[in-house]
Amino acid sequence: MPIGRSIVKPGSFCPQCKKPIKWYENIPIVSFLLLKGKCSECKKPISIHYPLVELLTGLIFLVLFLKFDIGMEFFFYLFFFCSLIVISGIDLLHQEIFDITAIPGIFIGLIFQLLNGNIKVGLIGLFFGGGLILLIRVIGKLVYKKEVMGLGDVYLTAMIGAFVGFPFILVTIFCAALTGSIMGILYIVSTKQGRESPIPFGPFLSIGGVVVILFHNQVVETFALLGVFL
Ligand SMILES: [Zn+2]
Repeated sequence: MPIGRSIVKPGSFCPQCKKPIKWYENIPIVSFLLLKGKCSECKKPISIHYPLVELLTGLIFLVLFLKFDIGMEFFFYLFFFCSLIVISGIDLLHQEIFDITAIPGIFIGLIFQLLNGNIKVGLIGLFFGGGLILLIRVIGKLVYKKEVMGLGDVYLTAMIGAFVGFPFILVTIFCAALTGSIMGILYIVSTKQGRESPIPFGPFLSIGGVVVILFHNQVVETFALLGVFL
């Protein structure tokens, strides 16, 4: 998507020599191992991104199955988590979040909440999350005279808000700010880059969303302990 290529047509091909990839060379992880990480035609290395994304996606299927078994939650969260992989991967590599990868998820998240009888929770999560990031974007533009948050971050947070609902969207944003700050400081210190270097926020928002879904009970217990709500 970032380089303007269709994800449907033509089918997969080697980016180096353009050789079309046969179905048996396209089996997640297995083919990468059998090909020893090299194109069967030109022998140039295949990017490690492919097996990593395949492994992560497989793990998500497994974790969601173990946690929710096969049912409505499994399929909706599968869509949610797979969207987060696509969004985070593109954001990490290209510092960009495409509207088409986040906006449909807002509606799917709302449908999920509607089916669960939690539409109000989803709507408040959506508008609170999206609204908060939009506010940071507007204030950042006024204060720093540059884009501190993209519109994509607004849509992504709205999508996560629709799925996790309110008040869990707050936990998501807190997790994102915390992990983002730690990684940002480590990145600046280790690469000796200036504070101006852009750090994508999408992957950290995604981590926050995943944590809230997978550790829902622990999050509720922690907040109950703190007496914040419930
Ligand atoms: Zn090749």
